[in-house]
Amino acid sequence: MIPIARPQMGAEEQELVASALASGMLAQGERVREFEERFAEFVGVPHAVATSSGTTAIHLALLALNIGPGDEVITVAFTFIASVTPILHVGARPVFVDIEPTTYTMDAGQLEAAITERTRAIMPVSLYGQPANMPEILEIAERHGIAVIEDACQAHGALLAGRMSGSWGLGVFSFYPTKNMTSGEGGMVTTSDGKVAETIRLLRQHGMSVRYHHDVLGYNFRMTDIHASIGLAQLTKLPAANKRRRAIAGRYTRELMGVLAPYERPGSEPVYHQYTVRVRERASFMERLEARGVGSSVYYPIPVHRQKPLLALGSASVTLPVTEQLVKEILSLPVHPSLSDDEVAQVVGATNATATELGPWLPE
Ligand SMILES: *Cc1c(COP(=O)(O)O)cnc(C)c1O
Repeated sequence: MIPIARPQMGAEEQELVASALASGMLAQGERVREFEERFAEFVGVPHAVATSSGTTAIHLALLALNIGPGDEVITVAFTFIASVTPILHVGARPVFVDIEPTTYTMDAGQLEAAITERTRAIMPVSLYGQPANMPEILEIAERHGIAVIEDACQAHGALLAGRMSGSWGLGVFSFYPTKNMTSGEGGMVTTSDGKVAETIRLLRQHGMSVRYHHDVLGYNFRMTDIHASIGLAQLTKLPAANKRRRAIAGRYTRELMGVLAPYERPGSEPVYHQYTVRVRERASFMERLEARGVGSSVYYPIPVHRQKPLLALGSASVTLPVTEQLVKEILSLPVHPSLSDDEVAQVVGATNATATELGPWLPE
């Protein structure tokens, strides 16, 4: 079976982790600092602050912007729930807008109608490694004096108009094992705002600037030097890994038939965290792919506004037609960089054979 994800660990990761262990410095230390510097340089921003996960990175980004009870954050429901749970944990209200039917990212055209006097931030998600429409979202946000947080947890190295994901407004990243790069668990906030970076550093470590002097109510959302060591090795390999993902995606888009291939926003270079197609009779499609030795997955079968914790908070009345239609049709195929050319050919063969049996995807 060709798996939907296959994290790659090599000698570089092992050596850096071994040296971190040998140093005796296991918690947040020099390695974390080095990882932050290298990641900031990679994204092209002055500041990067490492955290324990992507979820805690989002949480700290919201807190650093002083977002809390009574505030609204505009985001999308076509995402992993962790884009939204930190908004709830800081006491703010998520306001959902629908996605573009082409890129599956935030429809900037719906923002003006969703902005109220309580709106404090807009959080688009660069899902599947495809940058959201950051230039337009940033322009609208600036006009209204609202902050922008790009959830780039699936978009390490994605480019739009020559700019990296994470360099527009605040950026938040995840280094969970299946992401384009990993630290085991981990996250990062990227920003050009030195004050925001300082606040996040403070909140990340018990609100403590001088040892055992606590200035504000903080958290322990630190990364360890062990995780940063894995992250440093992975960051070195990221450009080649992304290049391979894009090459595999290019081949799929040329050779797949009977499924709707992903659309690339003009001027963008998506990094294909997922290669997501739309298919007919999805459940049956997945079974037939599996029988042909190809793993596939649905990211994500239930949109966030239909998840129980959100329904409990009154999201039942929210309707997002594009999101709700798409979640029934999407299917992600293996696109990880360790796929061999033979495996890629097997995915193409299995997908095309299945689409021939079940009939082509057609717009409604
Ligand atoms: C993975 C992910 C997160 C959360 O990151 P963790 O490191 O798992 O906490 C948030 N948003 C999106 C879009 C993700 O894919």
